[in-house]
Amino acid sequence: MQGLMMNRPMRVNDILTFAAEVHGDSEVVSVTVEGGIHRTNYRAIDGRTRQLAKALLKLGVKEGDRVATLAWNGYRHFELYYGIAGIGAVCHTINPRLSAEQMIYIVNHAEDKAIFVDLTFIPILNALKEHLPADLIYVAMTDRAHMPETDLPNLLCYEELVEAEDADYDWPDFPEDTACALCYTSGTTGNPKGALYSHRSTVLHALMAGVSLQTSLSPGQRILPVVPLFHVNAWGLPYAAPLTGASLVFPGAALDGPSVFKLMQDEEVFSAWGVPTVWLGLLAEIKAQGGKPSAFGEVIIGGSAAPRSMIEAFEGMDVSVCHAWGMTEMSPIGTVGLLNKTQDKLPQDERLDLKAKQGRRVFGVDLKIVDEDGNRLPHDGEAQGELFVRGNAIVSGYYNNEEATKGALDAEGWFGTGDVAKIDSDGMLTITDRAKDLIKSGGEWISSIDVENMAMSHPEVANCAVIAVPHPKWDERPLLVVVPTPESSKDVAALQNHLSENLAKWQVPDEVVFVEDLPMTATGKVSKLTLRQRYADGTLAG
Ligand code: AMP
Repeated sequence: MQGLMMNRPMRVNDILTFAAEVHGDSEVVSVTVEGGIHRTNYRAIDGRTRQLAKALLKLGVKEGDRVATLAWNGYRHFELYYGIAGIGAVCHTINPRLSAEQMIYIVNHAEDKAIFVDLTFIPILNALKEHLPADLIYVAMTDRAHMPETDLPNLLCYEELVEAEDADYDWPDFPEDTACALCYTSGTTGNPKGALYSHRSTVLHALMAGVSLQTSLSPGQRILPVVPLFHVNAWGLPYAAPLTGASLVFPGAALDGPSVFKLMQDEEVFSAWGVPTVWLGLLAEIKAQGGKPSAFGEVIIGGSAAPRSMIEAFEGMDVSVCHAWGMTEMSPIGTVGLLNKTQDKLPQDERLDLKAKQGRRVFGVDLKIVDEDGNRLPHDGEAQGELFVRGNAIVSGYYNNEEATKGALDAEGWFGTGDVAKIDSDGMLTITDRAKDLIKSGGEWISSIDVENMAMSHPEVANCAVIAVPHPKWDERPLLVVVPTPESSKDVAALQNHLSENLAKWQVPDEVVFVEDLPMTATGKVSKLTLRQRYADGTLAG
């Protein structure tokens, strides 16, 4: 028997309409690329988004068209999320840190109709324009006074487009599985693959995030998304924040430690979200300033494993750490590392051990780990296998890519994450590695994350990565690549002694190299692929 309830389609724009009515005064603050700070709120943004929608329709954008953005975190980028999706088109965020080759591939593969670009990235498009669709519409995300001199064909001005329209526009209805956003994720091989989010999956994900991360996602709370709008929808914040009435403080292009510190101090930011590398910079600045930004009470760390020492540093200054795991294909939140009341009362050392794990699943995400033959493994905290997920905001395939889609799901319809994990009996997930980053030495697995965690707790290690290098006897051995602190004595034996305190002897890297910095991927993670290539022959000549 069917229920007798209305079947209203879920639309992301209902989130902003709701925010405008219920949390209209909640602020959206942006560091602009033109210079200075811009302030607005959800009420004003809702109106401008409707103006933008009318402008897009006039440009000829239709339901299902892909409209690209190449921009930092700021209010115009936020408006585009809703203006584009609201008319049934697809907001395609592009990561400006991708290589030229990847960017050309992505814009052509998505067949973008228009591209909205921050002033900073106009030179990128200028260099690529011959390889982009000839009829692509270019719009600079600025006002008339700041329009640049450029060779880009028919460059339009964002503010002129918006200001030419009024806000008298009602969002149309369409089925809730209509696509609203597109984000490409780059694998280690092959071309980037597109995760195509729907209105339904995005609204559900915002609700999931809202109930899972209530400390920051609540009315008036001030959140700093350092995680970019160009990568997995800034972990869903552009939807979850207006839904819950939380304020957004967008950092623009200023992502170094001192700039982030100052913005957090000036704007009384409570909760900051981003990848571990960003927090290394902030922690250094907090040390230099002799204290944290005054309202700072929470940090959400994800994207790659948060070292235990980083968690300890934040918790030591009364900043609560939530270590979260997810991926582009999952919208992205999978697990969040909040402790329950009993766990939170444990001695600090045990609390930190738990916080270094990736946490428990959020509602709407099912987890399983399997062995090499696809058999399910127990959730006993011991068995380790590939992690598969299933849920309401997880991809069922990739945009216009049959080959990648074919391999994405297993026979039971679960998505293979490529991560290797253990799950405790109480549901705590520990990611031990990416499958391809695991080290197999003499037939035994070594988790690069475990070794990195130990190395990071050494006071003379500023950052590090562990990779497998070929070895004639053991097949593979771990190599520790270290960025030393300025005062480091670069004493390899001392470092190995430190590692031996918590690792088995055979897990301790026999070789350590010191480097000035680590190669990064476009999403701010250490590029182990680049490191492996550098040290591919097993010698340290690289
Ligand atoms: P992306 O799709 O670029 O967001 O990357 C997703 C991948 O990042 C996951 O499959 C993991 O390998 C890694 N990742 C994300 N969050 C974490 C975390 N908290 N700990 C360890 N790895 C993570």
